[in-house]
Amino acid sequence: MPIYEYRCHNCRRRVSIFWRTFSDAEAGAPVCPRCGGTDLTRLISRVRVVRSEESRLDDMADFDDLPDFDESDPKSLGRWMRKMSAETGEDLGPEFDEVVGRLEAGENPEDIEKSMPELMGEGGDDFSADLDI
Ligand SMILES: [Zn+2]
Repeated sequence: MPIYEYRCHNCRRRVSIFWRTFSDAEAGAPVCPRCGGTDLTRLISRVRVVRSEESRLDDMADFDDLPDFDESDPKSLGRWMRKMSAETGEDLGPEFDEVVGRLEAGENPEDIEKSMPELMGEGGDDFSADLDI
């Protein structure tokens, strides 16, 4: 759901208008929610999009809200992966469980990766890159 900001020339306020779709926003005539005026100029640089599921997942890969996260500590990494799995509610499969279990046991992520070649993504991305670390 896109949100555009407009400058209303009637009441001279900056207002935000929600549109159901981008095409609605392009085709629709904006009406000032404050004064009902229709003389609005869109402030194009201000466009925002309400967070999608995808961006929410991206946020979870952001370590800023994990003050105790230490990427050099396998146990910390394992805890984080388990938390991420719980938050997405997805069953990530037995390999994931095995990796998390081994991390939580203090195993080095590189050793785990070497012993589980099926973890290698397309193009040989390594395990750490998949985790966006
Ligand atoms: Zn107005």
